[in-house]
Amino acid sequence: FPPACAHLNSVSAFSAFLKKRPHNSHKGSFGDVIVAGGAPGMAGAPILAARAAAKCGAGRVYAAFIGDPPAYDSAQPELMCRAAPSMDFSTGAVVAGPGMGTSREAHDVLAAILHASSPLVLDADALNLIAAEPGLQARLAELTAPTVMTPHPLEAARLLQSSTADVQSDRLHSARALAQRFHAVVILKGSGSVIARPDGEAAINTTGNPALATAGTGDVLAGICGALLAQGFPAWQAALAATWLHGHAADTLVQQGIGPIGLTASELIPAVRTLLNQL
Ligand code: AMP
Ligand code: MG
Repeated sequence: FPPACAHLNSVSAFSAFLKKRPHNSHKGSFGDVIVAGGAPGMAGAPILAARAAAKCGAGRVYAAFIGDPPAYDSAQPELMCRAAPSMDFSTGAVVAGPGMGTSREAHDVLAAILHASSPLVLDADALNLIAAEPGLQARLAELTAPTVMTPHPLEAARLLQSSTADVQSDRLHSARALAQRFHAVVILKGSGSVIARPDGEAAINTTGNPALATAGTGDVLAGICGALLAQGFPAWQAALAATWLHGHAADTLVQQGIGPIGLTASELIPAVRTLLNQL
């Protein structure tokens, strides 16, 4: 790889962005995160992202659902569950896409999110909706707020109108092409996630392991990233830090015998919190 590609192997690249908590701080000091997704049958995905955002230090976290919202999350009643079409997306960092589906309602919610100009994480079906609609792509290109896109290889292939095999044959090139085309920081996920930004700067993450090859871990990554944006991280540092923390938490859990077989996305979340408090 060219010299510009720093390999992430320490926290020094981003620990300075994690603010010390002043004694007189309050929940408004650490930002709101709004996770939007959760089509019928897919409510778990935004809940995982929202729980991750809460345990990564966001001051307040909303989970906004395309389908009927649950009254509350009994495992984490701190979350505020809302109907996505009635949400104001201009009041915090937004994580769009987990379990969102690609219905008309999902499209309209995503359009509202893109018009709110908030710090943004675009994941999962938000990426699929964008891949399918030039109008959403045009709006994305206009955004100036920090924006992070978190495609796995198939989502990346849809965005690039290519194939998963093509994306995987040169992951560094694919991540850079996405970042340039969509004017966003991109995390191309998978073993050795590639983080790229529009000017061509890129990094390869060295943490993580196949324990992460299980449902919901991508939702957790998106939630971590949203919490860091809410706490004021620039997009590049949020993407680097979230990817590194997510993988390192999985590595730590495997050392403890919690995985690689049977690690669940839910178990990843408190491990990420522990790492954040050790930075
Ligand atoms: P998703 O495909 O959206 O569920 O996201 C899966 C998450 O787990 C991403 O952050 C991937 O980078 C990570 N992941 C999956 N498989 C592996 C692997 N074999 N090694 C490292 N990370 C992985
Ligand atoms: Mg995913």
